[in-house]
Amino acid sequence: MSQVVTRIAPSPTGSMHIGTARTALFNWLYARGRNGKFYIRIEDTDRKRSTPEATEVILNGLNWLGLDYDDEIVSQFERAPRHIEIAHTLLKNGKAYKCFSTSDEIQEFKDAARKKGTSTLFKSPWRDADPSTHPNSSYVIRIKSPENGETIVKDEVQGEVTFKNNQLDDMVLLRSDGSPVYMLAVVVDDYDMGVTHVIRGDDHLNNAARQNLIYRAMEWQLPIYAHIPLIHGEDGKKLSKRHGATSIEEYQQIGYPSSAMRNYLARLGWSHGDQEFFTDLQALEWFDLKGIRKSAARFDLKKLQNLSGQHINATDDAALLHEIHKFLSSNNKLVLSDEKTKLLKDAFYCLKNNVKTFSELIDKASFIFLDIPIPMSPEASSFIDEYSIEMLKTLTPQLHNVTWSRGDLEQVCNDCAESFGVKFGKLASPLRAVLSGQTRTPSVFDMMLVLGRDETIARLENAEGY
Ligand code: GLU
Repeated sequence: MSQVVTRIAPSPTGSMHIGTARTALFNWLYARGRNGKFYIRIEDTDRKRSTPEATEVILNGLNWLGLDYDDEIVSQFERAPRHIEIAHTLLKNGKAYKCFSTSDEIQEFKDAARKKGTSTLFKSPWRDADPSTHPNSSYVIRIKSPENGETIVKDEVQGEVTFKNNQLDDMVLLRSDGSPVYMLAVVVDDYDMGVTHVIRGDDHLNNAARQNLIYRAMEWQLPIYAHIPLIHGEDGKKLSKRHGATSIEEYQQIGYPSSAMRNYLARLGWSHGDQEFFTDLQALEWFDLKGIRKSAARFDLKKLQNLSGQHINATDDAALLHEIHKFLSSNNKLVLSDEKTKLLKDAFYCLKNNVKTFSELIDKASFIFLDIPIPMSPEASSFIDEYSIEMLKTLTPQLHNVTWSRGDLEQVCNDCAESFGVKFGKLASPLRAVLSGQTRTPSVFDMMLVLGRDETIARLENAEGY
């Protein structure tokens, strides 16, 4: 088989829906897993919506998802002359015709058909008209669809889908102002781009039947189709804002790693056995059209969060630091000094587990980013009283000489608690409060190990003044 060529053909809308992201991912995986090409075509014929900013949003989304593309981005709008040329070729070859019917005439046809109870699909009187009878008025160019028989769309996901030809009208290819219609543009672009596999949402399945007519009229080889079921929310309804975040940018901002998003989106409608967690390399090796399910996929936030946690945990420290920096800078959240960056990296071992997003990891690391005096939450302050300050005052001098290891720190803290006749927990809560100002943090020993002796003692001494 010749080289696989796939494409994503988004219409700019101002955001990148996760359905578009998933379609892009499927096309990318299919092509890249087979040494094929993956192209981007911006379907920018709606000039009002097609701003450079709207295209930028799509490119940013693809870039964040790590879906690289080949060659130049194709603009559908700029290819209009080529679409027009094909409409004229069809006209010349007798596969299309000029239709002079006015919109009033078409309406009359439909009203009459409705009254008679016959099909309202417009049948133009100009289909077989002799050109010598053509008036000197404006016209559209329509394709001559077959009047009988069936059009079968062979689809890798949906199977063979049959459309009765008498249900397909002679669709317009060129409007009366000479502009090409979307359906023609898609076919001509896919053909010229050498697209071998059209993988897209199943809301385009009906279009495939009509697009087939153009392929056949031009005697072009049809691409292989895979129409993938749309994404639904947990209630089984089409995914919309009501269900939460629907655009890829929102997931980026919440702090999901792109590796987790790729993993999750790949699983949304496709499976490889019962494998839930996988790497990019595995996805590239495994992805195929056979594994795409026919029923709608349900977006399951818990599953995404769970995979996200696994990806964060599995990322090596250098790569994780890089990702966190990108996350923080794209959100204008925090600028980390070199010193804090080093501490953060040292702390990854106790931060990486049990977090679902980068935001959660940053929250968990907040003890690192603070400077004395440590601001304290009301919950944390509730652990500070005369008695606990006494304990901390006893503990602090002992920290000067202890070896800065987990075992020795545990020993010193336990001994201190015991000398007050309390369990270690009674000391841990105020200690946690003065080290972090919070009540939910990594363990006090992890915090002490990460902060180091000087900073730990400085925080304790500062707190003793309460
Ligand atoms: N522009 C269409 C969309 O955004 C995609 C068309 C296609 O893939 O053929 O849904």
